[in-house]
Amino acid sequence: MKKVAAISFPSKGVAGKTGIWRVRKPILDRNKCVRCLICWIYCPEGTILRKEDDSVEIDYEYCKGCGVCSNECPTKAITMEEE
Ligand code: SF4
Ligand code: SF4
Repeated sequence: MKKVAAISFPSKGVAGKTGIWRVRKPILDRNKCVRCLICWIYCPEGTILRKEDDSVEIDYEYCKGCGVCSNECPTKAITMEEE
């Protein structure tokens, strides 16, 4: 039997653009970021953008403010702040 491997990534904004209901948003401290890309892997909305140099950027247009990126970041480079 043929073995098939698949990796799935969330599609950006599958739940639509962020509305006025988002109560917290992630703030990235670039001085603490070591470009490990864990936040990029874990974000359930696919709203962490990976750049060519492996630095990351948050797409606030679609970010839902769930805080997963902040929880998973090993260097605490992402903190959640009230909107
Ligand atoms: S998880 Fe933290 S250290 Fe790693 S890329 Fe994201 S912000 Fe940077
Ligand atoms: S708060 Fe949630 S949706 Fe927003 S960037 Fe972090 S993990 Fe993604």
